[in-house]
Amino acid sequence: MIEDLVITNSSMPNIDLHSHSTISDGMLSPSQLLAHAASRGVNILALTDHDDIAGLREARHCALQENIRLINGVEISVTWNNRTLHIIGLDIDPEHPPLIDGLKKIRDGRINRARAIATQLDKYGILGSFEGACAQASASRLIGRTHFARFLVSQGHAKDVRSVFKKFLVKGKPGYVSHVWASLREAIDWIRGSGGQAVIAHPARYKLGNHLLEQLLCEFCELGGAGIEVVSSSHTPEQTRQFAQLASRMNLYASCGSDYHGPGESYFDLGRLPALPPECTPIWTAWDIPDIRESPIQ
Ligand code: AMP
Ligand code: MN
Ligand code: MN
Ligand code: MN
Repeated sequence: MIEDLVITNSSMPNIDLHSHSTISDGMLSPSQLLAHAASRGVNILALTDHDDIAGLREARHCALQENIRLINGVEISVTWNNRTLHIIGLDIDPEHPPLIDGLKKIRDGRINRARAIATQLDKYGILGSFEGACAQASASRLIGRTHFARFLVSQGHAKDVRSVFKKFLVKGKPGYVSHVWASLREAIDWIRGSGGQAVIAHPARYKLGNHLLEQLLCEFCELGGAGIEVVSSSHTPEQTRQFAQLASRMNLYASCGSDYHGPGESYFDLGRLPALPPECTPIWTAWDIPDIRESPIQ
């Protein structure tokens, strides 16, 4: 994980472009998230819930009160080459019908996957997990593995969410079900069609190896992808340097995000991100934000 040493200079805008609320699998409501961001000194925040944009309206309302610049975002689940990738959409239009319809289809698919996860856990002797996970997801329209994880922890099957994932919810474990999400092309089309930029979330997490990573970046660029997350709570300092070089070599924008899910469940709190390496072109230089456009901030 990133060392907490290089903290954003307090005189510079504090930017975090990856965060979750109870609309997906975060622990804070959109209003609570914005209030927390303000308390952590964040000036520009993207709310990027998994496969849903229903939190943006409440977040915007609260952002105005907290004097935070809210970037409309989403984190779309994608299947590429038999793997799951996450593609972040930034500065999207939440009223764009193909984006709204596409995300609804993904959420519907999640319900089927959740039933399949519950069936497998039944066989393993853990009963009632579909209802249990739904109860954990009561603030959202979306059901995901994190809701199963919280249910399993509440039932005493592991001490915390992180260990419950390892024991039950990752490939090869009893509660893992493979699933086909949106295609890379669809996700990028929905994001671009709505006027936003597509960004590959936490690229180091996919452990692609050089060859597949090169293939992904080439396809991503051809399809109109705009950037990659260079600074992420999933990245080591070495990986941050590696992806900074890749981004500049491929002419991709660089993004930074904590992937904050809430107190106790995140590696990184809001407002504590290291600076983007100097060779990066920050994604926000593509936006019309006059006070930060000119300066290579962070
Ligand atoms: P899903 O999209 O339903 O498959 O769930 C993916 C989410 O589960 C991620 O966004 C994380 O919030 C969480 N997650 C995935 N892997 C882990 C892990 N090893 N430990 C803790 N949380 C995880
Ligand atoms: Mn998540
Ligand atoms: Mn993700
Ligand atoms: Mn995320």
